[in-house]
Amino acid sequence: MQALTFGGIETIQCSSVPDPALLYPSDAIVKISMAGICGSDLHVYHGREKGLDHGTVMGHELAGIIVETGKDVKKFHKGTRVLSPFTTSCGECYYCSIGLTCRCEKGNLFGWVQHGEGLQGAQATYVRVPMAESTLVPLSNDISDEKGLLLGDIFSTGYFCAENANIKPRGVYVVIGCGPVGLMTVVAAKHLGAEQLFAIDFFPERLQKAKEFGAIPLNPALTDCKEQILNVSNGRGADAVMEVVGSSEALRLAIDLIRPGGTISSVGVHTANHFSFSPGEAYDKNLVYQIGRCPAHFYAEKLLKEEVVQRYAIESIITHRFSLNQGTTAYETFDKKLDRCIKAILIP
Ligand SMILES: [Zn+2]
Ligand SMILES: [Zn+2]
Repeated sequence: MQALTFGGIETIQCSSVPDPALLYPSDAIVKISMAGICGSDLHVYHGREKGLDHGTVMGHELAGIIVETGKDVKKFHKGTRVLSPFTTSCGECYYCSIGLTCRCEKGNLFGWVQHGEGLQGAQATYVRVPMAESTLVPLSNDISDEKGLLLGDIFSTGYFCAENANIKPRGVYVVIGCGPVGLMTVVAAKHLGAEQLFAIDFFPERLQKAKEFGAIPLNPALTDCKEQILNVSNGRGADAVMEVVGSSEALRLAIDLIRPGGTISSVGVHTANHFSFSPGEAYDKNLVYQIGRCPAHFYAEKLLKEEVVQRYAIESIITHRFSLNQGTTAYETFDKKLDRCIKAILIP
């Protein structure tokens, strides 16, 4: 089959690799209908996250159709449309039982193989899904592949970020970063009742999208964000800041904008060695700080069941579609935000 494989820093190739086969009775093989390129794939692409074996199939966002099941898979059968969260989960361990499926004791991240151990990714024609019954989430006919793909990672992540921000209707809220996750966070924060919601980014087309989803756009190149937030909050600062970028600068801005007693909710993947604020600053602000990976399985099921994903045109953030053959261009376009790219997907 065709797959996008990691060939070293800034080298993603469309390669011919063997089709995945069932390894365990709880596995399923999924034929990919569409796969996403995620901001966290760029950490690997640029070498900020190290250790991935060359030849690893990239990607962890997918919607597809089950084409083969191991003999222990009873819940799903051939032909079932599914999404997969970006990690696998067993459904039985302590972490799965408390809904923290992203920290499943047996879980793995798709598209991460190190020293020959791990799981191949979804930017391919097929993917093997271990623990299929507890990992995969079925999609009913009224849920598009696009919605399914976004639910498996970034919409769930955005919702998780907003939920952790403890939103109350009258507060002042800020989302830092209007890339795909930031835009999903805007949708979720509005859904959870944020009336006054600011969204910060440098790119006009991303700010425009944030505005369409109900946020007040702020461009730090044109406006002093801190002054603006202090002005609308009687000089206090924001009640919560949702930081989705994962950079030291974004976290620094978050601590500058937050009021004493406020919450910073971070879902950006951080790769720096230290926080960009001191323990003393956190103490002096009585900071509540929530950071970490989203338990996407838990949220994907919840947001389907509560009919949240059904209500919003979240798929409108998908600006670019590529075939696997165009993989190199797809990564470059998404990475450099060429042609106003917000979210790129691959259609095998
Ligand atoms: Zn992702
Ligand atoms: Zn588990």
